[in-house]
Amino acid sequence: MASTMKALSKLAPEPGFVLHEVPVPKIGPTEVLIRVEKAGVCGTDAHIYGWDKWAQARIHPPLVIGHEFMGTVAEVGSAVRSVKPGDRVSAEGHIADLTCVLCRTGQAHICEHVKIIGVDRDGAFADYIAMPEYNVWKLDPAIPDEFAAVFDPLGNAVHTVMAAGVSTKSVVITGVGSIGLMAIPVARAAGAASVYAIDVNPAKLELAKRLGADETFDARTPGLVDEIKARTNGDGVEVLLEMSGSGSAIDAGLQMVRNGGTAALLGIPSDDVKINLAERIIFKGLTVLGINGRKMFETWYQTQALVKSGRVDLRPIITHVLPFDQYDRAFELMKNGEAAKIVLDVKGE
Ligand SMILES: [Zn+2]
Ligand SMILES: [Zn+2]
Repeated sequence: MASTMKALSKLAPEPGFVLHEVPVPKIGPTEVLIRVEKAGVCGTDAHIYGWDKWAQARIHPPLVIGHEFMGTVAEVGSAVRSVKPGDRVSAEGHIADLTCVLCRTGQAHICEHVKIIGVDRDGAFADYIAMPEYNVWKLDPAIPDEFAAVFDPLGNAVHTVMAAGVSTKSVVITGVGSIGLMAIPVARAAGAASVYAIDVNPAKLELAKRLGADETFDARTPGLVDEIKARTNGDGVEVLLEMSGSGSAIDAGLQMVRNGGTAALLGIPSDDVKINLAERIIFKGLTVLGINGRKMFETWYQTQALVKSGRVDLRPIITHVLPFDQYDRAFELMKNGEAAKIVLDVKGE
């Protein structure tokens, strides 16, 4: 094996990334070296690329970027038993300490000491990545490469839908970026009775329709809360899946939920959000869920089962598969809203 590899890194505290040669990571006895084949480009990567306030506070260059990927096991440490060279894998990018009270009580997805690949330690936009054996996910042969590369965000969608519990219920999704779009077929497969999608991007709303939303709405429509209520017997929907992180969308979304309903919040606001807690949540008796990451590994089993069943088809969502060296174009396409989900063909076959 070569001793160096291509990697896409943040090298200095400034916008942009650099594709350069770095040493191939060395693995310890409990680690797995994975040859990355395909990798998903995420909003998080775009924040790091653009070097916004969040990125400046969180990221310490030099750092290899990327956290959504699939590939083939190249090498395993001496203590690794569950995978072997040649296995097709993806991996959970949140590396928990596995020793704290949360990890020890089945809540590793909210471990306080979590390290995220491509954020806190070297990531997947590289020929190789080293992962702890615990985090490696062996792929079912029926899962296409492009879908496997985005199991991380698809898992976010699955975790949100499953936590909210949508079976037989009316559902509003506020914000149909890539994860909001993924949540539509997931909610359908999970038995949602009706799905309404809201966004400001007409192309994304069109996609939402194709993916199985009953109706789609521009978020700026006057009287939208009443429009949604009119479709649910005047009561409001039973479930809100908040995927936008926009303060006004969160406020409107909470108004659309009927008394006693559930709001699952995944979208991350860039600033503090002002909400009338009494009117929007307390008097309505809402259940509000904060959603972070994916359950380890319940969500991964659910995600793989849903994709394997054929009921969650990501082809309309993966709008671009680009060669590794066209990463600048990927971030351009994301910025102007043209792309839903972009996958980088890292290995380039
Ligand atoms: Zn991501
Ligand atoms: Zn922990």
